Amino acid sequence: MSKMERIYLDNAATSRMRKEAFDAMLPYFMDEYANPSSIHSMSKNPRAAVKKAREQIAGCLNCEPSEIYFTSGGTESDNWAMISGAEMLSDKGKHIIISSIEHHAILETADYLQKRGFEISKAPVDGDGVVRLDELRKMFRPDTILVAVMTANNEIGTVEPVKEIAEIVHEHGALFFTDAVQAFAHIPLDTKKLGVDMLSASGHKFGGPKGIGFLYVRKGIRLPPFMHGGEQESGRRAGTTNVPGIVGMGAAAEISCAEMGETGKRLTALRNHYIERVEKEIPYCRLNGHRTERLPSNANFSFRFVEGESMLMNLGMKGVCVSTGSACASGSLDPSHVLLAIGLPHDIAHGSIRASFPEDITLEQVDYAVDCLKETVERIRSLSPLYDDFLKKEGA
Ligand code: PLP
Repeated sequence: MSKMERIYLDNAATSRMRKEAFDAMLPYFMDEYANPSSIHSMSKNPRAAVKKAREQIAGCLNCEPSEIYFTSGGTESDNWAMISGAEMLSDKGKHIIISSIEHHAILETADYLQKRGFEISKAPVDGDGVVRLDELRKMFRPDTILVAVMTANNEIGTVEPVKEIAEIVHEHGALFFTDAVQAFAHIPLDTKKLGVDMLSASGHKFGGPKGIGFLYVRKGIRLPPFMHGGEQESGRRAGTTNVPGIVGMGAAAEISCAEMGETGKRLTALRNHYIERVEKEIPYCRLNGHRTERLPSNANFSFRFVEGESMLMNLGMKGVCVSTGSACASGSLDPSHVLLAIGLPHDIAHGSIRASFPEDITLEQVDYAVDCLKETVERIRSLSPLYDDFLKKEGA
C-alpha cells in the first residue's frame, strides 16, 4: 500500500456522500428549484420528491411518512425532541432522565433545560457502556416526564437495549426519545418493535448530505414546534424546505437500508479482524464498548502510556485518519465523558483511538492501519519514561 494513500477511519464523524444520493439531488438545485410549498405548476415535482423521500425514510423505520419531520440535522432534532418534549409535558412534571454517555447535542440541551427549572438525572452505564437497567428503574419519580437514551454511542459504538428501555419508560408513564444518529441506516430499526416515541437521525452519517436530518414523532404525540414561522412540515417545523438535502438523504437512506445486511456482515468481519490484530499485537490495550452489541463499523481502543493526540498526529502523517473520541470534543483537553462513564481512569481515557470504518474499506487498508497503529504506539512508548519504569517493575 502506498504510504501516501489516505485511509479514512472516521466515518462516525461524517460519511462520504453516496454517488446515487448526490445524483438524485442535482436536478433540485438548477432545474426543479421551485418551492414545494408554492401553488403553481413548478412546485409539483419538488413536492413529489419530498414526499418520496419521506416515504423512503419511513420505509426504513416501519412508520408512517406523516411521522417523519425534516430538520437541519441531528443537533436540531435532539434539541427539538428534548426542549419541546419538556415544554409539552411540563404541567405533569419537571424531571428528565438521560444516559451519562449521550452526545453533546443532548448533554448541552439537558444543561439548558436544567437552567430553566427542569431537573436532570443521568443514568449510569456499565463497563461496556450499556445503560444499567436496574439503576434506571430506580431513578423514576412521579414527576419524571421524559427519558433520552441514544440507540448507539458515537464514541464506543455500544448499542443500547432500546426496546427494553422503552418498556421501562412506558411502565413509568414517561415519554422515550432515542438519538439514533449513529444507528439509523447502519443497524435495523423498527419503530413499532422498539416502541420509541421519538427518534432522531442525520443525513451525513449514512451517505447523505450534511445539514439535513429528521425527527420521528409517533402519531398522537403533539410535540410543539421548535422553529416558528411558516406552515412547512405540517406546521411543526418552519423554514423553506431543503429539497436537495431531503432528496439526497432519502436516496441514501433507501440504499443504505437495502444494503444494510450485507454491509453489516462485511464491516463486522473487517472490524473484528482489526480488533483481533490490535489485541494480539499491541500489549496493554483495552477495547472500549461492548464486544458484540456494538455498531459494525466501530472499534475504540485505549492504549496505556500514550496520548491520543500524539497518536492521532503520528497516524495522520501516515495517512490514517482516526479520531480520539468524538470529533466535536477534539480541541478540548478534558477526557471524553463517555470513557470516564465506563470507568476508565483519566490517563487511560486520554490514550484512546476510535476507528470507524466506511462501507468501502478493504482488508488491505485495515491491515495497513493496524501496522501503523502498532508502529506508532511502540514509538511513543519507547520515548515514555513512565512506560520504561512500568516495564522495569513488571520485570520485562
Ligand atoms: N447525536 C449523535 C449520537 C452524533 O454522533 C451526532 C454527530 O456526531 C449528533 C447527534 C449531531 O448530529 P449533526 O451533526 O447532524 O448535528
